[in-house]
Amino acid sequence: MSIQESIKLIPNGEIAIVEFDLVGEKANKLNTPIMMRFKEIIEELKSSKYRAVIIRSGKPKIFIAGADIEEIKSMNKREEFEAAVESGQNIFNMLEDLPIPVIASVNGACAGGGCEMIMACDYRIASEDNSTRIGLPETKLGIIPGFGGCVRMPRIIGLQASLDVILQGKLLNPKKALKVGLVDKIVHPALLEKETLKWAHEIIDQGAKKRRKEFCAKGTVNIVLESFVGKPIVFSKAKQTVLEATHGHYPAPIKAIEVISKTLGMSDRTEALRIERDTFCDLALTDVSRSLIHVFYLTEMVKKQNGLPQGIKVEAKPVNAMGILGAGTMGGGIAYVAADKGVHVRMKDINNDALARGFKHAYDLWSKLVKKKVINKFELQQRMDLVTGTLDFSGFKTLDVVVEAIVEDIEIKKKVIAETAKHCKESAIIATNTSSLSVTEMGKAHPKPENFVGMHFFNPVHKMPLVEVIRGESTSHEAVATIFELSKRMGKMPVVVKDGPGFLVNRLLLPYMAEAAHLLNEGMSIETVDTAYVNEFGMPMGPFALMDEVGLDVCIKVLKIFKKAFGARIEMASCLDALEKTGRLGRKNNKGFYTYSESGKRLAVDPTIYAELTLKEPTNPLTNKECLERGVFMMINECSLALYEDRIVETPHEVDLAMIMGTGFPPFRGGLLKYADAVGTEYIVDQLEFYAQSKGARLKANNPLRNMAKTQRKFYS
Ligand code: NAD
Repeated sequence: MSIQESIKLIPNGEIAIVEFDLVGEKANKLNTPIMMRFKEIIEELKSSKYRAVIIRSGKPKIFIAGADIEEIKSMNKREEFEAAVESGQNIFNMLEDLPIPVIASVNGACAGGGCEMIMACDYRIASEDNSTRIGLPETKLGIIPGFGGCVRMPRIIGLQASLDVILQGKLLNPKKALKVGLVDKIVHPALLEKETLKWAHEIIDQGAKKRRKEFCAKGTVNIVLESFVGKPIVFSKAKQTVLEATHGHYPAPIKAIEVISKTLGMSDRTEALRIERDTFCDLALTDVSRSLIHVFYLTEMVKKQNGLPQGIKVEAKPVNAMGILGAGTMGGGIAYVAADKGVHVRMKDINNDALARGFKHAYDLWSKLVKKKVINKFELQQRMDLVTGTLDFSGFKTLDVVVEAIVEDIEIKKKVIAETAKHCKESAIIATNTSSLSVTEMGKAHPKPENFVGMHFFNPVHKMPLVEVIRGESTSHEAVATIFELSKRMGKMPVVVKDGPGFLVNRLLLPYMAEAAHLLNEGMSIETVDTAYVNEFGMPMGPFALMDEVGLDVCIKVLKIFKKAFGARIEMASCLDALEKTGRLGRKNNKGFYTYSESGKRLAVDPTIYAELTLKEPTNPLTNKECLERGVFMMINECSLALYEDRIVETPHEVDLAMIMGTGFPPFRGGLLKYADAVGTEYIVDQLEFYAQSKGARLKANNPLRNMAKTQRKFYS
């Protein structure tokens, strides 16, 4: 990469334009060579005759995406972090101290170091483009903003808004950024360049003054909360909220609160930045930060992939219009995410009521965005206009892809696939959203099975990022690449998996849920187990709450399928037999392990369930450690087979990405297999053997895991 070419100083009369456009990179990011070049430019500007400076990006949708994660990943010593952060802070101080006014002109992502850079500028203007997002996501990586973000942001937008951005790692859209005062103006993207220059000339005409923006609270409540009296209340409430949300597993937001409370209003900039820097370096070396950076790295990896084995370059087909068969829970959700990203959708069902429910589902989700002012009513209508409905196959000849989301019955699905193929153009790809049936088998119903593939979304579709792209035995590279690309376009994280019972995520998750049923049989209470998984392990919900979400009937049905496929590895606890007869379906009929309000909100464990399942009142005879180990080690055990024997996926990276994106496996643990490596396969095998002796053969360690323990091998070599 040519550093000189990556940041250019473009003269424009009295104005100097500094343009970031990293050569050979899709995104602008900050690393040591780039920062050094930026420093040279600032030094040049210091002694120049320019009367104003504009900082902008030459990339179409990115201003500056933040620090270079590769560089952060490569640092292992405190001194390395210390040097890099101190240098960054000094360079942004130089920018702030330039005698010439500096205007940041933002179009596209302006995150982390990018946002810290614009806060060291005097004036900020942004485009209203959809890609423009401004904020500080560092706490999501287990660190805090370290280039002055914790110090400058509260000064510019006030304490409350800063905590909102920094603690949640938020990126604000242009309207929100304007509202909180993070930018001074927003303009149509086509006018950004012209308006920035116009503003620069106005600033010059008014004497080319520097500006240090100081936040001024509005409204009585805010004035009190931002005052000397109110600040302690704001800090204490913020800390309480963070602890409730994270159960203490994520130290960065708490540390950010500490830094902001110490540095807020401090007149000594050097000392304030030293406090920020010290805390940054403490956090950067923690396992949590290493894990979160690993997860970020995994998501970046997907962006660069095409879903095909290394070296194979087959182009994805362009998708302008997609069909959806079945406008139910999944079909409605898929229609929403596709149209939200500009894809034309033709939704087909067998009756009008179902179609209407599909439309309503999408409409309700967009209406929520209108309420939150993320989109306006016109944009809602534009999106709705992309979705059309039909009871027959009219319009199917123009579709590039059809996603099937009808009842989970192989015979019906095969019939519908064959029928659909007749009404589509020959090149159209049909994808199934099945959660348990064989894609290879279903593909046999398609006249061109190479054009048949799995596209497994997770429920609720608009919230769950994972899509398993399932390669059947006859599926072509082109079909995989097309669905992989389409998933990304829909804002999802695709992972390619081989066909097989439960594919990847459900194959690991079901034995874990089944183990929870064994714990119930052994006298554990539902609250104790679920609370341990949430509070101690960091799962978004416990296994019983999860079973309710998935549907108790579905769980039992799939477990029976797995029992046939996996033999002794699946053992159904007797309480599941009893459960099947109760008519409890979980959230679906508001009756499961938990009780639900009429609107479907989960309330509390249903106290009558123990008697109904002919279980004694729980006495909690097992330790939380055993409950957690049995469930989680079960998943790791099954994963060793899925990965090394059945080759459902190729790498541990894909397992970790899929488990985090598809089940909410705690990101601070880096994923299932990063966690397994941290615990050690020897320990896992010993514990599984120990539990297997008294609890059953399902817990016996599988051969691949045993071999790993023997040779002390890790999943990530
Ligand atoms: P659903 O019952 O909510 O919806 C199915 C829809 O398909 C209904 O509206 C029905 O009228 C319609 N339908 C039935 N036959 C049809 C046909 N011949 N042509 C067009 N429409 C037809 O079901 P769902 O929960 O949305 O599940 C759909 C598929 O997605 C299943 O294969 C299921 O296994 C899979 N899946 C479900 C979930 C989940 O959590 N619900 C998650 C992942 C995958």
